[in-house]
Amino acid sequence: MSKNNPATYRRSSATSLPVLLASKAKQYGQLESEEKLTWCTGCGNFGIQSALMRALTLENIGQQDFLLCFDIGCNGNGSDKMHANTIHGLHGRTISLAAGAVIANPRMKVIGIAGDGATFSEGVNHLVHAIRNNYPMMLILHNNENYGLTTGQASATTRKGCHMNGTVEGVTTEPLNPLQMILSLKPTFVARSFSGNVEHMTDMLRAGLNHNGFAVVEIMQVCPTYNKFTSNEWFWERVKYLDEKHDRSDLWAARKAADDLEKEISMGVIYENRSEPSFLERLASREGVKTTLVEEVESVDVSEIMKKFQ
Ligand code: SF4
Ligand code: MG
Repeated sequence: MSKNNPATYRRSSATSLPVLLASKAKQYGQLESEEKLTWCTGCGNFGIQSALMRALTLENIGQQDFLLCFDIGCNGNGSDKMHANTIHGLHGRTISLAAGAVIANPRMKVIGIAGDGATFSEGVNHLVHAIRNNYPMMLILHNNENYGLTTGQASATTRKGCHMNGTVEGVTTEPLNPLQMILSLKPTFVARSFSGNVEHMTDMLRAGLNHNGFAVVEIMQVCPTYNKFTSNEWFWERVKYLDEKHDRSDLWAARKAADDLEKEISMGVIYENRSEPSFLERLASREGVKTTLVEEVESVDVSEIMKKFQ
């Protein structure tokens, strides 16, 4: 048994998740889809989806009260695997899609779901500006360190030396540390978890759902089909759960905690700033403006333009 097996995770709450969920079985069941899951055997996506369903259920976020925006990728193949409002967007555009949705309907809990490939290459611009703007939404970052859907090409997070399809002699470029990059942009919420621990992922997703601003939850995800380098066993030997000694309000402590991706990989809420207003709150404080964005858009007559699409 690895030194950091799931039993070593100690939740702060005295009541276990199975006990909490037992009273909400009906609510959980409403999210289950009859569609067949198509991920490879052992894929980390199974655990991530289960954790998301648990987190939404435990936070009492009903089926009609949230929107999932999926990217292209293996994660995106989950877009019809939950009974929920979902959109499967273009590659690398899930953050802009989700940001638009939450601005249009701030009452909706909006969740962007994207992989490491799209988030740190095709869509990295959207990530940067979503952090700056502090859109009130959560991003679940599936980091399996490769482009799984297109059969195992190196992404920006693939480790140096790994032999991937497309770079069969081994990757020669240093990988990007996702959370170091995100922390350099002064985010307001950053957490990390691991696809092998559903309980821990559930807790991190619940924390992200409760954040008023742009919440990033990185999930280090196993991809047994194409990433042979960071397996479940590899992670269990390295997972380190942050405890109360970690000061999550200290940006430099967060950067230190996020740095090690080789020996001791920190899991938990790494950084949180609750005092920064969200994008919508910043807009509400504009000088001399009393309207919301939705009201401002509604005041424009677009009926003539819409006729062109009829
Ligand atoms: Fe999962 Fe990897 Fe298979 Fe994609 S290729 S479904 S990420 S195991
Ligand atoms: Mg990936």
